[in-house]
Amino acid sequence: MYDHRKLGRELDLFDTDPLIGSGLPYWLPDGAAVRLALEEYVRDVERRAGYRHVYSPVLGKRELYEISGHWAHYHEDMFPPMDLGGEQVVLRPSLCPHHALMFRARGHSYRELPLRLAELGGMHRAELSGVLGGLTRVRAIQLNDAHIFCAPGQAVDEARAALDLIAAAYRAMDIRPVRYRLSLPGPGGKYVADPGLWERASALLEEVLKEAGLPYEAEEGEAAFYGPKIDVQIADHAGRESTLSTVQIDFYQPERFDLHYTGPDGGRHRPVMVHRSIVGSVERAVAHLIEVHGGAFPAWLAPRQVVVLPVSEAEIPAAEALAGRCRELGLRADVSAQGSLSARIRAAHLTPYQAVVGSREAADGSVSLRLRGSRSLPPMPVGEALGKIAALAGTRRPELWEE
Ligand SMILES: [Zn+2]
Repeated sequence: MYDHRKLGRELDLFDTDPLIGSGLPYWLPDGAAVRLALEEYVRDVERRAGYRHVYSPVLGKRELYEISGHWAHYHEDMFPPMDLGGEQVVLRPSLCPHHALMFRARGHSYRELPLRLAELGGMHRAELSGVLGGLTRVRAIQLNDAHIFCAPGQAVDEARAALDLIAAAYRAMDIRPVRYRLSLPGPGGKYVADPGLWERASALLEEVLKEAGLPYEAEEGEAAFYGPKIDVQIADHAGRESTLSTVQIDFYQPERFDLHYTGPDGGRHRPVMVHRSIVGSVERAVAHLIEVHGGAFPAWLAPRQVVVLPVSEAEIPAAEALAGRCRELGLRADVSAQGSLSARIRAAHLTPYQAVVGSREAADGSVSLRLRGSRSLPPMPVGEALGKIAALAGTRRPELWEE
């Protein structure tokens, strides 16, 4: 495995600047292309799975976090409040309170449930500068988050479906979890005190894991302050474990925000909140992708999917036209024309598709494809080659070619 901090700079994916501050990386065009592809994937699968997307601000009043319990249980991880015209405003440490307020703002019937609200939204964590580095310990986080408001009897199915989305995303990204963890509360005052709530939620999450047939390890002291969670664990280049994806069943926030819906009996009922993240934060997900693939991303995630290589100067116009056709198909492509052909092929070794255009190809509208990993295909018509590349990238499978 590679160190994403070193490789991220070498490949011009992201960097930091002391004037912006540590733990606040910026994304360069190639890194932003990977991130954007991942965000598009997530929004796409969420839409297909019945989620609706929302936007909410990264700030909220201090009172909001007093209600959610963050102020009492999560204070050390939050940025200090800002005084604004007699009010205290806080950079949010999570998206849940905003989504709970969105649910509360309208009346809901049981017929609308499960209501799945998703947001790829910003949140902040006051990490100490000593632990910052690269994309894994950052102060500004973009989280692939969602909250499913549902009847108690729907929570297990919703959590189970979220685990399926996580498994599909890992297949597409060509990554593997090291283990599934059922994270339970530990001793100390970090957790809200309500034994019944913890037991109920833990039992449901165990049911979800057993139904999914996933081996897991229960671990105390790793729960969120308001409830237990299923954590999907990954390991970095140094073998350090961290959580990428999570699924939680939460009875606490609906209580704190006094959420309700109208049941079939016409009465007021309390919904359950399922919190889930498929790929976690985009920062941690991309850091992991860099470390696992060493910059040789699956084609649908690659910053440059196709490099067009004219054999000589005479083929540059044909090469430019080919790159243009790639872009029309939604592929990220450009022309590499400076230096010897062999040097250009070496320089493009991380690019999934290298399209060589010689005089014969330019004349008859064909292209000779080299796949990453040095496999060469016989010349074929440009339309056929590009159609196949675009179709494979569209299905987001890790394979580069299909006969
Ligand atoms: Zn949440």
